[in-house]
Amino acid sequence: MTAPHIAIAGAGLGGLTCARVLQQRGFENVTVFERESSPDARQQGGTIDLHAGSGQEAVRAAGLYDEWRALARFEGQEQRKVDHATAELVEHEPAEGDFRPEIDRGQLRQLLLDSLAPGTVAWGRGVAAAAPGGEVTFLDGAAAAFDLVVGADGAWSRVRPAVSPAVPHYTGVLFVETRHDRDERLLALTGGGTMVAEHEGLMLWAQRNSGDHIRAYACLRAVEDWKPSTAELLDLYADWHPDLRAFLVGEPIHRPLHTLPTPHTWATTPGVTLLGDAAHLMPPLGVGANLALQDAAELALAIAAHGVREGVQAYESVMLPRAVAMQELANPGLLDMVPERPARV
Ligand SMILES: Cc1cc2nc3c(=O)[nH]c(=O)nc-3n(C[C@H](O)[C@H](O)[C@H](O)COP(=O)(O)OP(=O)(O)OC[C@H]3O[C@@H](n4cnc5c(N)ncnc54)[C@H](O)[C@@H]3O)c2cc1C
Repeated sequence: MTAPHIAIAGAGLGGLTCARVLQQRGFENVTVFERESSPDARQQGGTIDLHAGSGQEAVRAAGLYDEWRALARFEGQEQRKVDHATAELVEHEPAEGDFRPEIDRGQLRQLLLDSLAPGTVAWGRGVAAAAPGGEVTFLDGAAAAFDLVVGADGAWSRVRPAVSPAVPHYTGVLFVETRHDRDERLLALTGGGTMVAEHEGLMLWAQRNSGDHIRAYACLRAVEDWKPSTAELLDLYADWHPDLRAFLVGEPIHRPLHTLPTPHTWATTPGVTLLGDAAHLMPPLGVGANLALQDAAELALAIAAHGVREGVQAYESVMLPRAVAMQELANPGLLDMVPERPARV
């Protein structure tokens, strides 16, 4: 029997993990089609905490557990909550154990890329659409047929319409990201991991990345197309402590948060499946990347155990209910975390 030809759309954390676990189990005919032109085409931002039992298990299935542990920041598990007006610590969770150490997304992606057989990723080869049966049309108009197409192409998946008509909608919550390098005042407030502060519908969330780099997020309810300037943000946070307002200063990167409708599910479709954000985009409450990794490893292991057709069925029978349960927590969780702002008098 010839080895199945498997196409994976998207070289994000999910797609690369799926390719790696398949290759580890002897599947040689696996290609990852990535829209971006090279591994460095876009800065791979942010830090990801890999959870014991999901993300960490996937890294173990990929045979990369020791390499991941060598890069993981265990001190990143520290959580600090500070008062918005005084910047004083009001709640503190010290970094303990190894339930959810942090790693830069770029480091994890590179680890996965380096683990693949040369030529596995076809860079600059975006997928335009997929069809039941495993047909793929590329953005350049070419077409090809595969035994399986795995949509790991994120929030705005081009593979998803082959199994489901669902499209993401705006949650009503806007994150505005700023970045800070080696700023001692902000590092002291952030601690080893994450700092949060909130007051009357405004939230500030800061995370230490490797190299004393910080990514901070102002989180608020807003209309989808509002792109506040630094001055507008500072005005909104006018009654916050000056050290906390300093996190808002920098080039603002606007991230309106989208989610797929809940429950998002589909009937098993020959030749096509989804994983990660393509399957279950949800607000970033710390599980999205973990689920993408877990989906990816489980799909690959199910294919190795049962073959493509039964493997996909077995994977979806576990993944879909798990994803629905997480979405049902994450969607209201986001709105609780970032409530409406009281009207100003
Ligand atoms: C601000 C923020 C913070 C977050 N923090 C965390 C966290 O701390 N912990 C956590 O677990 N999760 C976090 N998440 C969620 C997490 O980032 C996602 O859930 C995760 O990246 C999903 O992985 P993925 O592989 O499914 O998709 P992605 O990482 O989005 O990768 C998709 C890949 O597909 C490619 N692609 C897109 N379209 C096409 C196409 N048409 N053809 C070919 N390739 C295509 C993209 O270029 C990309 O490389 C956060 C999200 C945000 C927005």
